Amino acid sequence: HLSASIANASWGTLISQLKYKCAWYGKRLIIIDPKNTSRICHECKQKNNEFDSLSQSEWLAAREWDCPNCHAHLDRDVNAAKNILAKGLETLA
Ligand SMILES: [Zn+2]
Repeated sequence: HLSASIANASWGTLISQLKYKCAWYGKRLIIIDPKNTSRICHECKQKNNEFDSLSQSEWLAAREWDCPNCHAHLDRDVNAAKNILAKGLETLA
C-alpha cells in the first residue's frame, strides 16, 4: 500500500534523525509501543473496552472520556501522554 509505505518511510526518517540528534546531545532515545496508550486509563491502568465497538472516526472524535472502572475523567491526549511517559520510565527502570 503506497500511503502506508510513505508513512513508514517518514517514521523511519524521523527515528533516524532523532537517534542522530540524541547521540549528538548525549541523550537517550526511547521508542515505545503505542498500542492501547489512548485506551488505557492512566489512573487505574485498565483498558477501556467500550471503545472497541466504535468506528475509527467515532473513536478519533472521542476527545475526553470517563473511565468505566475508576470513573476518572480523562483528556484523550493528556491521558495518552501520561501512559507513554510511564512506558518510557518502565524501560529505564
Ligand atoms: Zn480508570
